[in-house]
Formats: sequence, structure tokens, C-alpha cells
Amino acid sequence: THGLCMFDSHRRLIICNDHYAKMYKLPAELTTPGTALSAILQYLIGKGTFVETSEETLNGTDTFAANGNGKLVKAIQDGRLIAISHQCTADGGWVAIHEDITERQKAEAHITHLARYDHLTDIPNRVFFRDELEKTFQQLHNGKKFAVLCLDLDRFKGVNDTLGHSIGDKLLNAVAKRLANCVKEHDFVARFGGDEFAIIQANLDRPEDGGKLAERIIERISTTYEIENQQIDIGVSIGVAIAPTDGTNVDQLLKNADLAMYRAKEDGRGAYRFFEPEMDARIQARRALELELRSALVAGQLQLYYQPLVNPRSGEVRCFEALLRWFHPRLGEIPPSEFIPLAEESGLIGSLGEWVLRSACADAAKWPKQFRVAINLSPIQFRNLNLVKIVFSSLAASGLAASRLEIEITESLLLEDDSKTIAMLHEFHSLGIRIVMDDFGTGFSSLNYLRSFPFDKIKIDKSFIHDMAKGGDAVTIVKAIVDLARNLKIDVVAEGVETAEQLEYLISEGCTEVQGHYFSAAKPIECFEKVFAQPNGRIEMAA
Ligand code: C2E
Ligand code: MG
Ligand code: MG
Repeated sequence: THGLCMFDSHRRLIICNDHYAKMYKLPAELTTPGTALSAILQYLIGKGTFVETSEETLNGTDTFAANGNGKLVKAIQDGRLIAISHQCTADGGWVAIHEDITERQKAEAHITHLARYDHLTDIPNRVFFRDELEKTFQQLHNGKKFAVLCLDLDRFKGVNDTLGHSIGDKLLNAVAKRLANCVKEHDFVARFGGDEFAIIQANLDRPEDGGKLAERIIERISTTYEIENQQIDIGVSIGVAIAPTDGTNVDQLLKNADLAMYRAKEDGRGAYRFFEPEMDARIQARRALELELRSALVAGQLQLYYQPLVNPRSGEVRCFEALLRWFHPRLGEIPPSEFIPLAEESGLIGSLGEWVLRSACADAAKWPKQFRVAINLSPIQFRNLNLVKIVFSSLAASGLAASRLEIEITESLLLEDDSKTIAMLHEFHSLGIRIVMDDFGTGFSSLNYLRSFPFDKIKIDKSFIHDMAKGGDAVTIVKAIVDLARNLKIDVVAEGVETAEQLEYLISEGCTEVQGHYFSAAKPIECFEKVFAQPNGRIEMAA
């Protein structure tokens, strides 16, 4: 595939191959031995072959080193690129190899493009963005500012899950186009992956201008999209960090814009927030709390409280749900809604969850045999393939019968549709452990989840019980869940029962179990000695 030619010290052709002639479309008379190089070059230049022709081209010396050896690449008018390598011979002539590298160059350019552009939207990716940000920092002159905006779409996951990935992809493309239309010429838009985008807003005169751009983007992005005849509405949350005030290097500035974005999400989405040093402080405080949680277990600051699950007609207690409490020496009682997510993020949930399992089983083993214990397991705990062993060994160590253990999981566990998770649930089931779907109605409430595993019980989330008093939706939903459970022959519990009216309605609908402050809040197990002492385990109402 290479064109080869050899010249003598008088710059006359000794020999060339067919490929050389074809490459330059040389007529036969210019390929005969003895042809002067200058004749060949004059012919080619006359035909306008080269994109650039200089004195050196004509001389055939081009930019090779003084000794005549070396390589160069020539661009040909028809779009080809030819790499020429020169090697001098002992008698003062030279051999030249001409190689058409057009395709190779294209492939290389393609690879470079792939490495720096997002494959879906074809706008710059994170790598390119960081390089550009680095450059922007270097060009930052005295008194000048620029902004970085971190964007995260709201409700994108819902679109992807319900309408499918192909529509999700088209939506992301549409978003990328709208973003490009929002910014000025010198600004830089990139996709970081998923539903995350980022923008460098160059040459800010005043920091407020970062907010103006964010406002414009929020308005544009939340205008309805029409994709494949579907009307789609999403939103966007934006964090803005200004350089150099909020960061003097790439990592710091990006981190702070990200923190501001999370704050925008927390504050209700569809908004933008400027970075404030206080946000960083909050993250630091979280990290400190995470560290303290690590030692809380050893320090005995964690305790299990129990809340009874009651037969609504007879008032008999059947089961106690173990609910974790953290008594912090300085901050007082920290609710599980705060520290469980922290434990999940830090991986601490593994040892914490194991402690809960072992303690709850050990406690329950001491109760009269008609009482079961319910334990909440986090989805993160299911990532540990040893979970089954941990549960079995907790039962074995405590001597608690498997039929007295209930495991509560939430829908989010089944979101990932992991066959390993389902297999674990089946293993628990085969031992006689009951599996409960907690907080039903709050997640995706897909009926598919109820089909993916034969649940023993579903727990209607307390938000519905709470809203029943308002009438409307909540009542309909509660009724529908109770009916559904009855038809599927699954037990149904209502959690968060606080009033006699709620209880009455739930009884009339046929709810088989209730839990809530109406009977008792979660308390230390000693508080239920009276229940244990009663032959039928009945509980008095809390009020
Ligand atoms: P959950 O499993 O849905 O627990 C029910 C929550 O509702 C408990 O909150 C309980 O105290 C509260 N509750 C019960 N009755 C009433 C009522 O009548 N009114 C109101 N307003 N609330 C009521 P708690 O103890 O704060 O726990 C919150 C969540 O933290 C639990 O929700 C559970 O998801 C999680 N959690 C608690 N302990 C553990 C644990 O040991 N492991 C894991 N993985 N998660 C836990
Ligand atoms: Mg629960
Ligand atoms: Mg619940």
C-alpha cells in the first residue's frame, strides 16, 4: 500500500513502484528511470495537487533535516493526507516512502472526538469540560470573573422509567440543544453523563449575571417537550459557583457548584442557588456526624425501641417493630430519618444493621412465644451476599424461631430488579421468615413488585392514613390497597394510626393489623411488660 521511489545524487528517478505513480496520478513518461524530480514536482504543482506549495516543495527539499532524512505530511487538494519519509543512501541519493494516511488520521480524529465529546448528545463531555475549565482559570485576568453552573434535571428518571430509554435519549438531546441556545458564544456547555450538565459562563462582569443565565435556563428547560407524540415536562436544578471567589482551582469550583446544586434540589427543585460557604460547613458537619455514628455503637448510644402491631378489632399485639434510636450526648435524640441515610452512604449500615438484627432477635427470644419481631432492612444491606448468613446466625445465636421474624423492606430494593435480591428473599422465606413490603404507596407502587415476590404483608404508608381525614384520594388509595391485599391473600397493615376515626375506617375496610401512636409510640421494651403479662397480649390505648 506504500508508494516507493528512489532517486540518485543528481535528483533523477532510479525506480518507483506502481503505487507511487497511482498515488499522484503520474503519466507513464514521468515514471521512467532518469526523470528529474523537478519535472515530476512541476507537473504536480501545475495540476494544483498540493494544498500548499512553497519554494521547498519545488526544490523537493521541503522541511527535511539538513542530512536529508526525516518525515513530513503533505495535504493533497482532493482531501488526502500523504506521509512521506526520506532516507538518504550512501551514494548521495535517497529512498522515499509515501503513505496515504487519510483513513488512519480520520480514525485517530474520531477517537480523539469520542474521548472529548458525549456520545449521545455530541456536546463536550466531562474530560473536555475540565480541560476547558483549567484553561479558563489560566486566562483569568485581574478583576475578571467567570461562573460554573452545575445542572441536574428534575424528574428525568421518571421519564426514562415510564416512557423508555429511547425517548429518554431524545429528551437529553433536546435539552442539550436548548442549553446551547441559552448561552453566549464564549460560554461552554458539557454533559457530565446521566441527566447532569455543566456550563462555563465566561467573562462575567457581575456575579448576578450567573443567576440571570440560570433563570433563562430554568425557563427554557421546563417548557414542554414534544417527543414521539408525547408531551413531556421536566425541570432543572442549578448550582452556581463564581471563580475566583468560590474556588481557585477546577476541583474546588466544581465541588462548590455541585453543593449549590444539591441545595437547589433540597429547596424544592426547579430553582438555582449560588454557592455559600455555609453549604460547605453543612457537609463538614455531616461528615463529623458520620464519624460519630461510627463510635456510637461502641459507646452504647444506640438503642432499639419497639412499637406494637395490633389486631384492630381485639387490641391484641402480634408483633413488635424494632426501631433504632440514637441518643447523642451533645445533640440529643437524632431521628433515624437523619442517621440511617448517613449510615447507608458511609457503608456503616452493614455493622449497624447486623447489630439491630442480633439485638432484636435476642430480645424477642425472651418474649412469650406468640409475639413476633419485625426488623427493617436497608437495600444497601442486600448488597452484602453474606446477609442470609447473618440473618441465619442471628436466629441460631438467639434461639428465636424463624417464624417469629418479619423482615421489612421497601420498594426501592426491588427497583434494580436484581435476581440475587429475589433469591435472598426466597431463602428467608423458605426458612419461615415473613417478608413485609413497608411504606407501600410512596415509591413507584408498581404492581409488578408485588408479583416479583410472594409478600406476606404490605404496610400502607402512614402518609395515606394521615391524609384520610381530608377525604378524597387518600381514602380511595387505602381502600384500593386493602382490597388488593385481600384478593392477593396478603396481610395488610396500616401504619401511623393516630385517631379513633382512622381506626374505625380501617376496621370497616378490613385492615388486618394497625400500628401507630393511637396504641403506642415506639418505646423501650420494658414499657410493654403489661402486654407480656396479659394472657392474650392485649394493649390499652395510649390515650
Ligand atoms: P418505618 O419502618 O416505616 O417505621 C415507621 C415509622 O413511623 C417510625 O419512625 C415510627 O416511629 C413512625 N410512626 C409510627 N406510628 C406513628 C404515628 O402514629 N404517627 C407518626 N407520625 N409516626 C408514627 P422512626 O422510628 O422515626 O423510623 C423512621 C424510619 O427509619 C423507619 O420507617 C425505617 O425506615 C427507618 N429505620 C428505623 N430503624 C431502622 C433500622 O433498624 N434499620 C433500618 N434499615 N431502618 C430503620
Ligand atoms: Mg418499617
Ligand atoms: Mg413504614
